[in-house]
Amino acid sequence: MKVCKFGGTSMATAESILKIKNILNSDKTRKLVVVSAPGKRFKTDNKITDLLYAAYKEKLTYGVPGAALEEVCDRFEILARDLNLDIDIRSYIEEIETGLIESNNSDYIASRGEYLSARIMSKVLNFTFIDAGDIIKFRYDGSFDSELTRDLVSELKDIKGGAIIPGFYGRMPDKTIKTFSRGGSDVTGAIIAAGVNATLYENWTDVNGFMACDPNIVTNPKWIEVLSYQELRELSYMGANVLHPDSIFPIYDIGIPIIIKNTFNPTALGTQILKNVDGFDRPVITGIAGKKSNTVITLTKSMMNSELGFGRKVLSVLERNGVSFEHIPTGIDAMSIVVSNQLSESLKQKIHDDIKGAVNPDTFDISTTLSLIAIVGHGMANRKGTAAKICTALYNADINIRMIDQGSSEMNVIVGVEDADYSKSINALYDAFFK
Ligand code: ADP
Ligand code: ASP
Ligand code: MG
Repeated sequence: MKVCKFGGTSMATAESILKIKNILNSDKTRKLVVVSAPGKRFKTDNKITDLLYAAYKEKLTYGVPGAALEEVCDRFEILARDLNLDIDIRSYIEEIETGLIESNNSDYIASRGEYLSARIMSKVLNFTFIDAGDIIKFRYDGSFDSELTRDLVSELKDIKGGAIIPGFYGRMPDKTIKTFSRGGSDVTGAIIAAGVNATLYENWTDVNGFMACDPNIVTNPKWIEVLSYQELRELSYMGANVLHPDSIFPIYDIGIPIIIKNTFNPTALGTQILKNVDGFDRPVITGIAGKKSNTVITLTKSMMNSELGFGRKVLSVLERNGVSFEHIPTGIDAMSIVVSNQLSESLKQKIHDDIKGAVNPDTFDISTTLSLIAIVGHGMANRKGTAAKICTALYNADINIRMIDQGSSEMNVIVGVEDADYSKSINALYDAFFK
């Protein structure tokens, strides 16, 4: 049995939905199907999930959701009309509006794009609709309940015909809806694949597979034939959003293979993501990914290096404020902490005050314009010349490196550059390693 997940662009128009139908009809082992909410139909279009979050904001501001929820209704009505479906979208939207007003839960409304997508697909395919809330379970504390979920999902093994499951969300014991983080339908697909011990998890999107770089930044980057689970995690965590980085956890132990496929070009080979990539002839560098606008907190204090407990005190401040860090490059009298999420002004002020109280630094600075770029590959960080090649490529492109980290993982080297240099850096690194 194969599990297939179709992403936002695959769900965006009637035309793309009919492509999904053909894909499923061409292979009857594609029995369990996870869908995302419709994404953008064109560059300036809205993603349904973004509209639903906007509807939540409208509700907070005006007491009821307004134009954003109307747009969601229009989008699904257009799909239903173009697909000739007998489905009353308006009454679903009214149900959602009531549900939002009663629950006041942003996860609830955000999840409704996937819910409606699955309702539509169940009609198009004549597949059984299975509500993700009935099989994807979270505990009271919000953590994912993998044991209960596995038991519930495993019952789908014996399903007659096909089943369609909305991605992105599940339910807590008190029936509250909870979502994964953005892009989380990929995670739902992986959970379903693990629960039924699928032979393959097919992740259908809008590109011919994983490329060595984001095709929005580098023109026509090289296609990657095969990636290891770990490389996938490194690349997707560092910004290659083809597949959610958490998609690996559910399938890790069983080692279910994943393939990234293109709904709009189904005969393209796609990229395999495997637990074990031994035997494949692969380049040393697999790919490059990055993310912009990371926050860096920099402290200086003379004699910092000999002050016992300095680092621990600073990190405790972050912990108390619920902020996790990515890297801590240090100098003799300086320490920088790279934080991937954006911090609100009030949180920045609070961290400043708390750090001042804890270690009284000579200087304190928070900048929010650091791009992190990861060069990922097997065993590359220990290979002679990698760092030199990175530095030379960036130097030749006239880019200042603000940070370099090649210590912690032998699978990647990470460089930090100013946001303004982001695209130029990725292109320079791509040219150095792949051309
Ligand atoms: P879906 O809606 O199907 O889940 P996503 O938008 O989440 O699709 O992911 C696919 C997109 O990821 C591509 O359209 C592409 O713009 C982007 N992307 C970023 N990095 C890469 C990469 N290295 N290779 C291929 N696509 C990439
Ligand atoms: N619709 C959700 C999002 O936009 C989940 C997903 O597409 O995977 O993040
Ligand atoms: Mg996605």
